[in-house]
Amino acid sequence: MSMEIKQAILQKIKEYDTIMLFRHFRPDGDAKGSTKGLQGILKATWPEKEVLLINDDHSDYLAFMGDDEAEVADEVYKKALGIVLDTATTDRIANKKFALCKELIKIDHHIEVAPYGDLSWVETEKSSVCEMVAEFYATFRDELKITQEAATHIYTGMVTDSGRFQFSSVSGDTLRYAAVMLDQGINTDLMYAHLQLKDFDELKFRAQIYKLMKITENGVAYVYLSKELQDKFGLKPEAASACISAMDSIKGCLCWIGFIENGDEEGSVRVRLRSRFVAINSVAEHYRGGGHACACGATIFNKKEMRALVKEADAIVKQYKETHEEWL
Ligand code: AMP
Repeated sequence: MSMEIKQAILQKIKEYDTIMLFRHFRPDGDAKGSTKGLQGILKATWPEKEVLLINDDHSDYLAFMGDDEAEVADEVYKKALGIVLDTATTDRIANKKFALCKELIKIDHHIEVAPYGDLSWVETEKSSVCEMVAEFYATFRDELKITQEAATHIYTGMVTDSGRFQFSSVSGDTLRYAAVMLDQGINTDLMYAHLQLKDFDELKFRAQIYKLMKITENGVAYVYLSKELQDKFGLKPEAASACISAMDSIKGCLCWIGFIENGDEEGSVRVRLRSRFVAINSVAEHYRGGGHACACGATIFNKKEMRALVKEADAIVKQYKETHEEWL
């Protein structure tokens, strides 16, 4: 079924001299990998086309993937085909000038809440958008070219968004397309070192999380990181947000939540929710958020909302445990 849409996307790409790629703000490995990877494929295949990736945000954790490019005139956008990757809704697109593009294509694996784009290829069961880009390349490999650098970007996004190929979203196809990327000669030792190694200070902060963290009666682990605490540990928002992974392997805790104060005037708090076995995205949706069944995000504005959110998650976990046997 997806063959038709992939062919339509390839056709559109062929029609345009200027192609601009877009992703969500606060990029993760999949957002960076899919945009940079597709950019590499398009540039290698059509050196005469202008293929642009313009964003001014930066991720320390993913600095090794390189920053994007500097702004260009509005006229360039107006003649371009825009391709938005890994972004469920237009309000999450980092570069707001996407709206100027002549036509827009959406390629995504998030649950569709507000469809957009003249063409849309959305498959929610895909482990990553990078997997979709790898599939796109593999489908048209007779026509498309790829570089080792582009394959490394795509593989990195596949690795990060699938929890190192451990999530249940990983299918036989995921590994087959990962193999197509690996065949390009990726330095996996270096890639995993970039992804895994931590400054010692970050590990000391992790120890603090274990002290602060609370666990509800039915197994929801959560931690609240005030701006004051983040400043005390000299943490940038991205490093503070990494608190979520410290809570991911506690037996009996099927859900874990990080509340990270943004330090703005409105008192907004970023909420990161994760779970295993049980879907938790309904909770995120009740607090101005969304995402995947077991990895989603929301925003709250006070401790009262935090307590209500934790209570709701706890009730879901309780119900799940009472009605299912195979969990731990
Ligand atoms: P994060 O905790 O920021 O890594 O987000 C986990 C997943 O949920 C990602 O796929 C995000 O795109 C999605 N997500 C996070 N926050 C929101 C939000 N406010 N609305 C919709 N989706 C979100």
